[in-house]
Amino acid sequence: MQLQSEPAPTAAGDEIVMRVGHAGICGSELSGYLGHNALRVPPLIMGHEFAGEIVELGPLVPELRPDLQVGALATVNPLWYCGNCPACLAGVNQLCANRRLLGAHRPGAFAEFVCAPAKLALQLPAGMDTRSGALTEPAGCAVRIAELAGAVADEDCLVIGAGPIGLLSLQMLRYQGAARVFIAELDAARLNMGEVLGGIPLQPRDTDPVAAVLEATSGAGVTVAVDAVGTAQTREQCVAAARAGGTIILSGLHEETSAMPVANMIRSEIVARGSFAYTPANFARGLELLAEGALRLDPWIHEAPLAEGGQWFERLIEAPGDVAKVLLRP
Ligand SMILES: [Zn+2]
Ligand SMILES: [Zn+2]
Repeated sequence: MQLQSEPAPTAAGDEIVMRVGHAGICGSELSGYLGHNALRVPPLIMGHEFAGEIVELGPLVPELRPDLQVGALATVNPLWYCGNCPACLAGVNQLCANRRLLGAHRPGAFAEFVCAPAKLALQLPAGMDTRSGALTEPAGCAVRIAELAGAVADEDCLVIGAGPIGLLSLQMLRYQGAARVFIAELDAARLNMGEVLGGIPLQPRDTDPVAAVLEATSGAGVTVAVDAVGTAQTREQCVAAARAGGTIILSGLHEETSAMPVANMIRSEIVARGSFAYTPANFARGLELLAEGALRLDPWIHEAPLAEGGQWFERLIEAPGDVAKVLLRP
């Protein structure tokens, strides 16, 4: 990871340029950094979770997006979509056949300035700073997970993994009225965050999380189990912890392929759903919920100068300790 000087971007017709205020480091970027992610090939400016100040509007923007003004604070849905394919027409633009990710297919926000399509920008609500606004992208992922989880009011749920997506999903399930939300996580500091945010902590080093969930639910299992890790083991644990007719939401992408106990899924009519990113509506909802204070990662956000970004990639790959999200500040 190197800090380099590049010419500042300029806004073409339907684009805006933003001065980045805060840009979060995402787990997918850590795997990109390690060379495990075909989408992210150097040389590349990563960074897709960000908020900042609009500093330039392309010539077509005043007509396309009259609500966007120079000087306003905004965040950007980093997933560009075509708007015309069957997925886009169905409102699931994150599944667009032609999708392009800012910070992977075009330069991202680990920089002083970033250029983005104006149609993907969202102004921050009055009073919100770019520190909170930069959490909109992971919040949108959690909104999508909770949407696919369906009705959870008074139902028990399980979240495996207390990284940012696990912690935000836990809060979403509670926001939607879940009875108990169990959270399993190996890292003690992250498990503590899950407990502070209202989850029932399960430490896999001490107890088998599946056995603990089954015992707590009189053998029935949970209505919804969310995998925010994505290993063969956590995927299997979701199946084993789900009640008959329950739903597992697969979000973590750690392992590309893994064996699943399909016969158990058939005999228990387990519904398995992949959850990828967010619809534009989920993204906007994430921003609203952050503004309401319904979703948070504070007090475990760490702000660092952009120049320390490389070191933070290394630290996050090791054991980050009491940090849920690192926000880089150019
Ligand atoms: Zn991300
Ligand atoms: Zn499309």
